[in-house]
Amino acid sequence: MNKNEMYRMIPKTDILLRDKAVQELAGRYGQQAVACILQEILGELREKAGEFAGRAQEQKGAEFIENFLENLIPCIRGRLDELFSPEIVPVVNGTGVILHTGLGRAPLGGQAGSRAGMIAGKYVNLELDPVTGERGDRCAHFERLLCRITGAEAAFAVNNNAAAVLLILTALASGGEAVVSRGELVEIGGGFRIPEVMEQSGARLRETGTTNRTRLSDYENAVNEQTKVFLQVHTSNYRIVGFTESVSLEELCALGRQKGICVVQDLGSGMLTNLGRYGLKGEPYVQASVAAGADVVCFSGDKLLGGPQAGIIVGKKCFLDRMRNHPLARALRIDKFTAAALEQVLLEYLNPDQAVRRIPVLWMLTRPAEEVRQEAEMLKEEIVRRRKERYGEKCGSMPARITVEPCTSRAGGGALPEERIISSAVCIAPEEISAAKLQRRLRTLPVPVLGRIVRDRFLIDMRTVSGQDREYLAGLISMDELFAGGTFRMPDMRKQETEQEKGSGL
Ligand SMILES: *Cc1c(COP(=O)(O)O)cnc(C)c1O
Repeated sequence: MNKNEMYRMIPKTDILLRDKAVQELAGRYGQQAVACILQEILGELREKAGEFAGRAQEQKGAEFIENFLENLIPCIRGRLDELFSPEIVPVVNGTGVILHTGLGRAPLGGQAGSRAGMIAGKYVNLELDPVTGERGDRCAHFERLLCRITGAEAAFAVNNNAAAVLLILTALASGGEAVVSRGELVEIGGGFRIPEVMEQSGARLRETGTTNRTRLSDYENAVNEQTKVFLQVHTSNYRIVGFTESVSLEELCALGRQKGICVVQDLGSGMLTNLGRYGLKGEPYVQASVAAGADVVCFSGDKLLGGPQAGIIVGKKCFLDRMRNHPLARALRIDKFTAAALEQVLLEYLNPDQAVRRIPVLWMLTRPAEEVRQEAEMLKEEIVRRRKERYGEKCGSMPARITVEPCTSRAGGGALPEERIISSAVCIAPEEISAAKLQRRLRTLPVPVLGRIVRDRFLIDMRTVSGQDREYLAGLISMDELFAGGTFRMPDMRKQETEQEKGSGL
């Protein structure tokens, strides 16, 4: 076997495209995609052949090519399946972090989700004024609700809270100065830095006070004829403790009124119902900021509010109109799914007791620890039961030790950073493989499972796991293959190859 003979074993793309099995794939996935994948695969095969030729191992190369071609059809099908499968899929969040930015922050409740889905495929009255029949405002639909819930005069929403801060500063302080306490020049997760946003807005940052202490007189002394805004930033997941002093919003608003300067508060996480009554303390409440007299308050839609990604702005109408009419508002506007989902979530806030049950973020935050512990026990029992079902009564011992243990969940998203929320975890200690390997396996499943590792055990915090997730976890963890050495493939997901494909005459 010489080099040329070896290369000649690799079929040409256009000849393969006429093969019956390939044609079948083309019928399902389209000629173009199949041709592309074929070219990709054959290119790789030629490259591999080149490596054999480089080592003067043509005979070995020929064997490799022969083996490869025998599995060509399943290989093409596998790549096509992968190409045509969406990559964004739901995951099971066993991390215990309720607002996990990596996992899409707030999951929407059933009603908000189905409203957004229902709206998606239809024409809607998004910007239609029903009375005049003329162009209306897409935010008007939920503005009425935000005003009622927060007590503000006007409300508006943009793409996210970072965009809200940018729009507020651009519309109100561009070309002028915004005064911020040095203790509040923070970076929030994901590279949102107050000084950088300020720069983008065209407002000049006037720092005042010190990192740990800022007094009202510091704000007063920072004022000059250029001053447009006093900006107060909730420091979210960052705390200065010890010898500290800061100015209350009431005091700052009084100074703002006296000097004719607009007071803006970036609250970060917009808590719209007081979770203090559930023992969750230390997070500012939007209604309190409005009542304290802030001119403009902004917060995220998908943090503690529990809605879709959005940056919500509430406050005095004269200031909000300047934002609404600013050209940047057009670039930062929300879409129809967001508007519909946000409206639905806000409808739930009209009845706060109902909101705590219906909005998943609030429900997960306030679920009693005992209830979470019972769910963990239920999962543990369900695993044992399913395993008996799967392997019969004489199934031998489980290849992992499973226990239920106390743990702590976190709100995440910079909210309630000091609250350690008591929870329960199902802890898995595999016997044959490491916990890290189990973690990797679970993370790469078609429906990934995320958890954390503590002392070489994999922990699933049940506070963030739904009933449906629990069913799935029980089925999964009762499979002995999950804990076996070697490579793991999910048995149910494995594609069954038909004899015909294997024996395809290529
Ligand atoms: C989270 C946060 C932001 C950014 O909000 P996004 O909705 O993620 O854009 C801005 N400011 C504060 C204080 C925050 O906590």
